[in-house]
Amino acid sequence: MKVLVLGAGVIGVTTAWYLQEEGHSVAIVDRREAPAMETSFANGGQISAGHAEPWANPQAPAKILKWIWRDDAPLLFRLRMDPNQWKWGLKFLAECLPGPTRDNIAQLARLALFSRESLGELRAATGIAYDALTLGILIFYTDADAYEHALKAAAIMREFGLDRVPKTVDEAIAIEPALASARAKLVGATYTPSDESGDAHLFTQRLAEKVIARGGTFHPGRAIVKLDADDGRVTSVRVRDPQGEESFMRADAYVVALSSYSPLLTRPIGIDLPVYPAKGYSASVPVRDARKAPHVSLTDDSAKIVITRLGERLRIAGTAELSGYSTDLNPVRCQALIERTRELFPEAGRYEEAAFWTGLRPSTPSNRPIIGATRFPNLYVNTGHGTLGWTLACGSARSLARIISGRDPGVDFRFGFQ
Ligand SMILES: Cc1cc2nc3c(=O)[nH]c(=O)nc-3n(C[C@H](O)[C@H](O)[C@H](O)COP(=O)(O)OP(=O)(O)OC[C@H]3O[C@@H](n4cnc5c(N)ncnc54)[C@H](O)[C@@H]3O)c2cc1C
Repeated sequence: MKVLVLGAGVIGVTTAWYLQEEGHSVAIVDRREAPAMETSFANGGQISAGHAEPWANPQAPAKILKWIWRDDAPLLFRLRMDPNQWKWGLKFLAECLPGPTRDNIAQLARLALFSRESLGELRAATGIAYDALTLGILIFYTDADAYEHALKAAAIMREFGLDRVPKTVDEAIAIEPALASARAKLVGATYTPSDESGDAHLFTQRLAEKVIARGGTFHPGRAIVKLDADDGRVTSVRVRDPQGEESFMRADAYVVALSSYSPLLTRPIGIDLPVYPAKGYSASVPVRDARKAPHVSLTDDSAKIVITRLGERLRIAGTAELSGYSTDLNPVRCQALIERTRELFPEAGRYEEAAFWTGLRPSTPSNRPIIGATRFPNLYVNTGHGTLGWTLACGSARSLARIISGRDPGVDFRFGFQ
């Protein structure tokens, strides 16, 4: 079967790869000049199965209210005159109840484990290099109450088969010696030794090269303007080139992997995907002193930022703002990332040379991605991966490729969309 994948982020490119594994021929189309130039460009780099907890949880509404006036808040909801944002917000509140939260954790944990295993197999099979480090992920706490809560969260993750274990301050520093400079602030940590990190941008670009080497095609610089449907099937995809010329692309089946833009293309044909952008920030900082810069990927729970070593750079990422599709940089948020990291690791990076970036996480109210068939028999979706797109990419893509091939997806997850 010929499958056209819409979107060349980490989700679209891994989908193309696993479709080829199932014997399909693939084409990928994207408006950008190369793969992974939008949300997959400069994320936190964590493959964090042990931290696959949804934003929507019983504590979230109170925290969001507390942060609402803070310009540097870790999670900020800015109300707009946008009914899609309001609908999303109401669904988010429903997902914060204890029952849905537990179900979402269970599903995300299963998909994340399958995904991490799939990434390991893909890496072994292809030899692909992307500044990967398999040193685990350490989450550290500077607030005693938050640490108490985290010990419960870690116990829940262990129930679902994840090896997230509590660590004392001394044990945390033994795992990541660079943390010694922050010792006075720490109250404890949790560690998931089987988690990983790596550069999603590099990975996606290198995997796209392999997809092309196996006969796939990549069509850059084509903005998708419309999905055409007739007689209950998608018949073509209308694209516009940089000169404004429109043309049609056709295939036997189509996969929508357009991140936060997916609902904008599917709504006109009656598929209302609950995906809304949550803007995040990152700073990429050259390493100054390799011994003082962490190697183990870290999460600073109180600041809600991740710090990941990617070769000779530190990637610092965090913050979430539900305020529409703007990718403008807010200098207060950029500085908040730098100041916090400088405070913890004063000699680790050349902070004055930081390169800042924003990306729009394609977020669903439950944090669960939307993967699978639609009411059009030749249209599939793989989108809405929110905070966990890099973590969940290989598993989501592999299971969708199997679904498209009429096979068992290989993981217990609620697929599909009604
Ligand atoms: C600050 C930040 C930190 C993060 N940290 C992590 C992390 O540590 N670990 C983790 O697992 N996840 C993390 N994420 C989330 C992760 O980066 C995303 O979930 C993931 O990149 C989404 O991939 P995607 O392929 O769906 O989106 P994208 O990479 O955005 O791909 C979608 C593609 O669709 C194309 N497109 C969109 N509209 C059109 C159109 N109309 N026509 C043609 N092409 C179009 C875009 O050009 C783009 O290439 C982070 C995100 C952010 C913002």
